Amino acid sequence: MERIYRVRQEGETFFAVDRDGELRRAAGDPFTSLAVGVPVRGGLDGVRILAPVQPSKIVCVGLNYRDHAAEQEKALPAEPLLFIKPSTAVIGPGDPIRLPPGVGRVDHEAELGVVIGRRAHRVPGGHAWDYILGLTCVNDVTARDLQQKESHNTRGKSFDTFAPIGPCVATGLNGVPRGIEGWVNGERRQASNTKHLIFPIEQLVEFVTFVMTLEPGDIISTGTPEGIGPIRAGDTVKVKVDGVGELVNPVMDE
Ligand code: MG
Repeated sequence: MERIYRVRQEGETFFAVDRDGELRRAAGDPFTSLAVGVPVRGGLDGVRILAPVQPSKIVCVGLNYRDHAAEQEKALPAEPLLFIKPSTAVIGPGDPIRLPPGVGRVDHEAELGVVIGRRAHRVPGGHAWDYILGLTCVNDVTARDLQQKESHNTRGKSFDTFAPIGPCVATGLNGVPRGIEGWVNGERRQASNTKHLIFPIEQLVEFVTFVMTLEPGDIISTGTPEGIGPIRAGDTVKVKVDGVGELVNPVMDE
């Protein structure tokens, strides 16, 4: 297992790889080839950690945990329910989630993100992991009042800063169920496990790539478990996925 970060140090942006607790600078990119070199000065404390990839799109899955569908008082979907967050919503670890004025309630949604490693079109589920680079954390930030008012997802899910991702892409974790948590101000609000996904990762890759081509760096965000709730200016929100890490973002008014 290795963790791939995209970082900035002294005005320079580059990928870095943590294999055994030591962060090393890497030449190239994780989609073609990544040549691991010398240790990064100061390690993770000596860099600014950026969003690990720059997706052309984030394909999100709605209502993919039974308990979350129940708390939303929605019937379980017979097929995966898809919507897209735009690339302009992406922010990295530590970047503030900015609450737009006048939109009402805004919620956190802790999710496991599947990062695509190579162009994927009509991929059978049995081959899904050949196209997956690794896993990351996603916060599917949602303007809940807008979503419910419209019964559509585009406006409520797409504000700038509503797609925190990171802190890294963890590779080599294929298919193992893992814990997922959402925290606000040090209080755990969401706690589940990816074994409870209604539509598992392999099926999602097949389903999504039947519709659209996924490019390297694109993300499938696999849905949130129960415990979603509002975030407010001054809060600190955290998404934690076992084996991947913690994605922490402050919340502020725009
Ligand atoms: Mg979601």
